[in-house]
Amino acid sequence: MTVYNFSAGPAVLPKPVLEMAQKEMLDYRGSGMSVMELSHRSSEFDEIIKAAELRLRELMAIPDNYKVLFLQGGASLQFSMIPLNLAKKSKKAYYIVGGSWGKKAYTEAVKLSKTIDFDPQLLASSEDTVYNHIPTFDSKTIDKEAAYVHLTTNNTIEGTTIYDLPDTNGVPIVADMSSNILAVRYRVADFGMIYAGAQKNIGPAGVTIVIIRDDLLNDTPVLSSMLDYRIQADNGSLYNTPPTYGIYIARLVFDYVASLGGVDAMETKNVEKATLLYDFIDKSEFYSNPVSVKADRSICNIPFVTPSDELDKLFNKEALEHDFKNIKGHRSVGGMRASIYNAFPLEGVQELVAFMKAFEERNKG
Ligand code: PLP
Repeated sequence: MTVYNFSAGPAVLPKPVLEMAQKEMLDYRGSGMSVMELSHRSSEFDEIIKAAELRLRELMAIPDNYKVLFLQGGASLQFSMIPLNLAKKSKKAYYIVGGSWGKKAYTEAVKLSKTIDFDPQLLASSEDTVYNHIPTFDSKTIDKEAAYVHLTTNNTIEGTTIYDLPDTNGVPIVADMSSNILAVRYRVADFGMIYAGAQKNIGPAGVTIVIIRDDLLNDTPVLSSMLDYRIQADNGSLYNTPPTYGIYIARLVFDYVASLGGVDAMETKNVEKATLLYDFIDKSEFYSNPVSVKADRSICNIPFVTPSDELDKLFNKEALEHDFKNIKGHRSVGGMRASIYNAFPLEGVQELVAFMKAFEERNKG
């Protein structure tokens, strides 16, 4: 039986990419070395990181006045790096919290505000309804002098997405795009900064992409050189040894996405996959999706539940036996979650729907 991996991250990677990596594993393009053995200062690696950046710029149509950085520490380290670099003395920084990861970003900012002088503000939150929709707010309440407005484009755990960016009264938007980068088309110029951990749509865990507008790069040094966007940018992401193998896989993924038609083609495919599952859930009286506003539904992470916790448990058990891996919902919300990022095949969603139908038949009252 085919294994379908519904993991929210690290997630499924395109087979042709893994095959290429396997082919090049012992001898990278005639170098006689594995990519893992290449110096990050070598001409071979220089070509890899430059090609990765170029392709990402092409895929996302990143304007020239934005830097692209390949960093480490995951998206979670960005929760700290953002205030350290972007916060302005005594000024506000707003957080729109539509999910657990956004809450973590906000919490980290509050923690840092005890050490550095800035004023993190909770602009909007849907925590009181277990993040079942994207919270809204009145843009007139935003202080124009604020440093940034932070948001999460895709709430991985709760399965909601901001498709249309809010009016932030001219204040730059800083976005955690970890779970829908390259899966949904956004206009980079609408953001001050975008960041994403690689392990969903880009490659192995360990690489973090940062796309930052030049004017937001800090002029004064921050706490530590490793945490300093300016230093990382001035050194072309080679201030220290970068995650070379992860950057190599990212490059292969970027090339592969381009060969399939780029982000628009990915989005079309993702909409097709997600619609199949949502349509089935909506027609069923057995399954439900906890998101309360249909327009906020994610096309990347689709949570769903059966009528009871016991049946959820049974579903997860039988799904695993059926070689549907990692479909269990996040430990904080329970139920099930199908993460169907770019590399997840349509056939996997078709098989899931067939499985869900059969499970319903066996277990409806
Ligand atoms: N932000 C979002 C939206 C996520 O989905 C995740 C991880 O799943 C994170 C942040 C944390 O990422 P990392 O584990 O790379 O720190």
